[in-house]
Amino acid sequence: MSREQFTLVLRSARMVTPRVRELSLVREDSQPLEYVPGQFITMHLPFDGQTLLRNYSIATIPGGTEAIEIAAVRVEGGRATRLLFEMLPGDRVETTGPFGRFVLRDDPPARYVLVGTGTGVTPYRAMLTELGRRLAERHFSAVLLLGVRGPDELLYGQNFIDFAEQHPGFRFQACYSRTMPELPAPYERKGYVQDTLVELDLDPNMDIVYLCGNPNMIDTAAVTLRAAGFPTPNIRREKYVSSN
Ligand SMILES: Cc1cc2nc3c(=O)[nH]c(=O)nc-3n(C[C@H](O)[C@H](O)[C@H](O)COP(=O)(O)OP(=O)(O)OC[C@H]3O[C@@H](n4cnc5c(N)ncnc54)[C@H](O)[C@@H]3O)c2cc1C
Repeated sequence: MSREQFTLVLRSARMVTPRVRELSLVREDSQPLEYVPGQFITMHLPFDGQTLLRNYSIATIPGGTEAIEIAAVRVEGGRATRLLFEMLPGDRVETTGPFGRFVLRDDPPARYVLVGTGTGVTPYRAMLTELGRRLAERHFSAVLLLGVRGPDELLYGQNFIDFAEQHPGFRFQACYSRTMPELPAPYERKGYVQDTLVELDLDPNMDIVYLCGNPNMIDTAAVTLRAAGFPTPNIRREKYVSSN
């Protein structure tokens, strides 16, 4: 699979949580984008005479739409944020990709532990089709921990709730750092994803852990996992930071 440069055109956009805008984009040349779920694209965004390079994980569930979906959170004072939140249908953006090694590899463990904060859950949404295939074929399980402030920020929560209902080997756990619903569902709890992670009966020989999103969460969790005996290759990380 080669990295390509292409133009994306915004087809539609919608707010999927109070702070996250989902953009649904298609290639101007009508070619499909070949990618492995978990990879990201780089948008080249003109801002104040410079070009900002900003990465966004592909959120599309393969087999559904042909469009490339990304979910961008509103970062206060963020330059790319402003451009992405102002984009209108028909607007174009130069893009390169796909990039990244934050993908499901051919090393099925006894359990995948997928941890994400906020928009850091989007690569896992893209992995659902492949996870479903693997769960049906092999004996292993997967658990997804999603950390957000409260129930209104449960990005793509319904996708994961539905997937868990359809796949007994998959468990979804939402971790709310600020607000809880009055009557929490079984998948809802208060606290940070790191707190739930340590309660999972982790096994460095059986589990492979993916961490995506907030860099502080990833660093804290990685320290915990290394202390628990996890070899570095079994801790897979994607930190959401920008470089210019
Ligand atoms: C591999 C990869 C994949 C990514 N995928 C996604 C994705 O799917 N969705 C998504 O929304 N973002 C994603 N990001 C982050 C994204 O690339 C940008 O960093 C983000 O949109 C902020 O850019 P900005 O230009 O608006 O902010 P900037 O103008 O660069 O920053 C403005 C201020 O906000 C702070 N800041 C930057 N990012 C954040 C943040 N996430 N939270 C809080 N404060 C922040 C900065 O330190 C700075 O003080 C990804 C990053 C990487 C490296």
